[in-house]
Amino acid sequence: MSLRSVTVPDSLASFLSSGGLVAYADSRSDDVEKPQLPPRKKVVVLGTGWGGTTFLRNLDSSQYDVQVISPRNYFAFTPLLPSVTSGTVEPRSIVEPIRRILSKKGGDIKFWEAECFKIDPATKKIHCRSNVGTNLDGNGEFLVDYDYLVIAVGARTNTFNTPGVVENCHFLKEVEDAQKIRRSVMDCFERASLPYLNEEERKKNLHFVVVGGGPTGVEFAASLHDFVTEDLSKLYPSVQHLVKISLIEAADHILTMFDKRITNFAEDKFGRDGIDVKTGYKVVKVSKDAITMQNPAVGDISVPYGMAVWSTGIGTRPFIVEFMKQIGQANRRVLATDEWLRVRECDGVYAVGDCATINQRKVMEDISEIFRVADKDKSGTLTVKEVQDILEDIYERYPQVQLYLKSKQMNGIADLLMTAKGDAEKESMELNIEEFKKALSLVDSQVKFLPATAQVASQQGQYLATCFNKMKDAEEHPEGPIRIRAEGRHRFRPFRYRHLGQFAPLGGEQTAAQLPGDWISIGHSTQWLWYSVYATKQISWRTRALVVSDWMRRFIFGRDSSCI
Ligand code: FAD
Ligand code: MG
Repeated sequence: MSLRSVTVPDSLASFLSSGGLVAYADSRSDDVEKPQLPPRKKVVVLGTGWGGTTFLRNLDSSQYDVQVISPRNYFAFTPLLPSVTSGTVEPRSIVEPIRRILSKKGGDIKFWEAECFKIDPATKKIHCRSNVGTNLDGNGEFLVDYDYLVIAVGARTNTFNTPGVVENCHFLKEVEDAQKIRRSVMDCFERASLPYLNEEERKKNLHFVVVGGGPTGVEFAASLHDFVTEDLSKLYPSVQHLVKISLIEAADHILTMFDKRITNFAEDKFGRDGIDVKTGYKVVKVSKDAITMQNPAVGDISVPYGMAVWSTGIGTRPFIVEFMKQIGQANRRVLATDEWLRVRECDGVYAVGDCATINQRKVMEDISEIFRVADKDKSGTLTVKEVQDILEDIYERYPQVQLYLKSKQMNGIADLLMTAKGDAEKESMELNIEEFKKALSLVDSQVKFLPATAQVASQQGQYLATCFNKMKDAEEHPEGPIRIRAEGRHRFRPFRYRHLGQFAPLGGEQTAAQLPGDWISIGHSTQWLWYSVYATKQISWRTRALVVSDWMRRFIFGRDSSCI
């Protein structure tokens, strides 16, 4: 295999744009050697989704030589994908070309439309393959060097190796998927309306099955129901009574990540709407004509279907699995980073978004070291004052401590330390290492894993860009917490996620929202909140205008049912 190496020098473009021609002319005329600026470090970003794009938008690209590699030359606003499946929003309204985003930033960022298929951390090179063209060797493959690599490649749909899913089900992950689903829904209606079909065949064609009762599956089922009742029922009056939408979920409830009140409301509403919610059913096989599922009480059942959408969660991309094997993470399910989003044991490699998970350091892994650092007077015991002196650093490095105090309604660390010391006086309390371990032994139960959402991915992209922008400064003025196992401070504060709330659109102009502080809001007014939040969150004024006009078009003319 021969690979073409793309080294992108600070070359021509920056040479011309930085007045290089003038400098060249000067150096010829007076023969004075100009001091050479050190070459900029090469940053390679994989992916143009939520994580990668937010990183790029916030990065000070004048400090780095930046290259972006993705098989997709646009950013897609995934929360509106379910709306694309029913034609409420047009596909082009939710995408923005990455080159437009980069050109707005100015500077000299290169984009290659290609996919990375191998990362070689030993030589700091990545292997890429172009989807759109081949080179003279005929394979379209090339190598790219990096100093820093930001992996933001997202995830793939997880089929749990269920037979027949890849061949027979639709996924809802990309814009193309949403377009295919829209066409497929219309095909089902047209097929069911043909003159030579019997009732059973028509019913089969109009049975829409959604597998997975998470936010995406639920929102898709709701938007399909709206499409059918508000638009298609008028156009296909002879078959509309045969339509059935089933939502299959292996757990006991749908929307399990939401508050119980939202789950109950959604299940009741779907019941009223005639959406058949089957909880406790696990799909075990999908054939061309039927879906087979298991339920402990009922056993195996097979139901004929016209179209199925598989939305049961996400899995790791194959080339990331290979990369994990190379770096000693073979036994993990997802690529692990530390709290600064650095891939463990891998110099200069960072990962954000759905492709990675933060492995929060446990207090109990470091407990002896924390004790040693806190015990300033080397007395072998800790006073409350000694612990309080490094408390801010502990809270920052191990957020589970504060979460634990909150969960136990404790006012401060002294209350926690008291649990190991019984009724001793707070002020004069001194703990030895065993007592200190006992006091903190349960705090790690509060370690939280972040959900795979756009909110997390974009906050991580933004955080990482801020770190990159301050890289030089932070060497001299580190701002992070004390290093527990080494000298000095960490360069940066660890990444901290701020949850802004989550929506679950349920159809019929009703939405449920779980907002920070467990504030729940459900109904028509929340739908308007949903409209305003998603209009605001659009990546550009262009997409904002397109999305809002699509919504208005839908209110006035309804959704379009042309099968194009
Ligand atoms: P992505 O946004 O998926 O981007 C991955 C990028 O990597 C893509 O550009 C892809 O082309 C590129 N790529 C893939 N393979 C390679 C490769 N080999 N080399 C280089 N590049 C590669 N989240 C919310 O917070 N709120 C919501 O309402 C919401 N709704 C959703 C609805 C749907 C239908 C879906 C599918 C997801 C939804 N999400 C929502 C989740 C959200 O979309 C993801 O969590 C988010 O996209 C993750 O961002 P990311 O950058 O990790 O990955
Ligand atoms: Mg002491």
